[in-house]
Amino acid sequence: MSQEQMKIPQATAKRLPLYYRFLKNLHSSGKQRVSSKELSDAVKVDSATIRRDFSYFGALGKKGYGYNVEYLLSFFRKTLDQDETTKVILIGVGNLGTAFLHYNFLKNNNTKIEMAFDADPKKAGTSIGEVPVYAMDDLEEKVRESNIEVAILTVPAGPAQGITDRLIDLKVKGILNFTPARLSVPEHMRIHHIDLAVELQSLIYFLKNYGTEDVE
Ligand code: ATP
Repeated sequence: MSQEQMKIPQATAKRLPLYYRFLKNLHSSGKQRVSSKELSDAVKVDSATIRRDFSYFGALGKKGYGYNVEYLLSFFRKTLDQDETTKVILIGVGNLGTAFLHYNFLKNNNTKIEMAFDADPKKAGTSIGEVPVYAMDDLEEKVRESNIEVAILTVPAGPAQGITDRLIDLKVKGILNFTPARLSVPEHMRIHHIDLAVELQSLIYFLKNYGTEDVE
């Protein structure tokens, strides 16, 4: 990552893909400028936050004009679509894993699941949505061969840490963890936890207690 990109705060960086997707749609519908209000309504981020985010990458909106869509898009393309595709694997081809393989993030053209792994011998040797599924015994060889940087974990919680330890040894840089297990990883590895059951429960809790009010 370049120096320029390192200065962007993490919270802003997390919103970039959201902005990017919306701007791509705007651009393909022929729009040349967009106001922070329009962006705010579309991506559901308040306009003050959008203005602050955009100021980090030198996009200064003009009053009554808004932002230049072309300029923003070229910035996002440079920042998000880094020249090389990030190589991703998926481990655990169950219901959730299979859905991801079919979806395969094709709309984000810098990420692609290259291959998948599963302990079930009936699944190894098959392909799902053009992604080959290999046996867990092949993990080390395949990951080394292909310089894999990121792994998506969709296995049950039980084996998650053991698999993570293998990924650590393989110098994989990041894990997107869909298992409910809280995994231990060394400092140089980044892990994002997405527990869909917890997210759903939390949505329901907030709806019951706060309705649609904003809670900071
Ligand atoms: P299914 O309907 O295929 O059983 P599921 O999502 O309900 O899927 P889970 O028990 O959550 O099933 O398992 C998800 C996937 O992880 C399964 O395909 C399973 O074979 C695989 N799996 C289980 N243990 C391991 C392991 N130790 N290493 C790799 N894959 C594993």
